[in-house]
Amino acid sequence: MADYVIGIDLGGTFIKAGVVDKQGKSLARTSVETEVKKGHETVVTNICRAADIVRDEAGLSWHDIIGIGIGAPGTLDIKNGVVLLSPNLPCLNEMPLRQLVAEKVPVPVVLENDANAAAWGEKWVGAGRGVNSLVMFTLGTGIGGGIILDNRIWHGANDVAAEIGHMSVFAYGVKCACGNLGCIEAYASATGMIRRMKEAIQEGKPSLLAEKVKNGEEFLAKDIHDAALQGDKTAEEIIVETGRLLGVAATNMMHILNPDMIVFSGGMINAGDMLLHPIKEEVNKRAFPASREKCQIVFAELGGDAGFIGAAGCALTEFETSA
Ligand SMILES: [Zn+2]
Repeated sequence: MADYVIGIDLGGTFIKAGVVDKQGKSLARTSVETEVKKGHETVVTNICRAADIVRDEAGLSWHDIIGIGIGAPGTLDIKNGVVLLSPNLPCLNEMPLRQLVAEKVPVPVVLENDANAAAWGEKWVGAGRGVNSLVMFTLGTGIGGGIILDNRIWHGANDVAAEIGHMSVFAYGVKCACGNLGCIEAYASATGMIRRMKEAIQEGKPSLLAEKVKNGEEFLAKDIHDAALQGDKTAEEIIVETGRLLGVAATNMMHILNPDMIVFSGGMINAGDMLLHPIKEEVNKRAFPASREKCQIVFAELGGDAGFIGAAGCALTEFETSA
């Protein structure tokens, strides 16, 4: 009897894959290059190769596998398994990805948005174990989102729900990459935080990163945290302000959805309490007590594995009854 699922986290640079059992435990994982520039056939071949590598490493045959879940970035038609528009994987635009993979493997395949899949992973075996509803903010170059309501991923009318990075927190704020004004992503993503740090330095605030800005050198969100740990007050202020703005966004989600939990994930959570405390402080100042008392605000637990674990979980949900 089939007892395992394979999850694929499809990124613009790497494909992460893993074999997961019905309890969400990972048995094997791998990472292969996506090779986007070689075109969609190569990408599909690489997805199947990654699946085969982890199946083999876990010592399983295809008869042991219930199905494959693929978490893909971009705008998708989930019901039909089609990638509509994916800026990081342009060779897959308008491609029936689910069908292309399913033709090459002997098990059924399900397609899911990558941020939704990661939220499902955290809900299944990560920070959100046991809760019914959660909202996940994934803090990276942009801010991704996943919404789970009553134990189901919320897809919306045509699969474009949970773009929570593009909620405006300033009505006439800076222009976001999406074209809208004042999106939380434009301020509190890694990119947004770096922009605000550069602006603070250009306004004359003292910082350990001032020399880099003067020389036109780039730095990362991690460098801001490192500077803050070395006593850079400006860097610390920028991180605290990032937390406050995320607290505003979290409050908005709490007032709309009344979730059990709000999870923050992505590399920026390495800033720890320096980021989490101001998020909570801002929520405590703003949110309705009834909503705030019920909602846990936490950091994600699965790190970079959330994507493939969640994608595998989506396959389990989709195919388990028919397996
Ligand atoms: Zn936006």
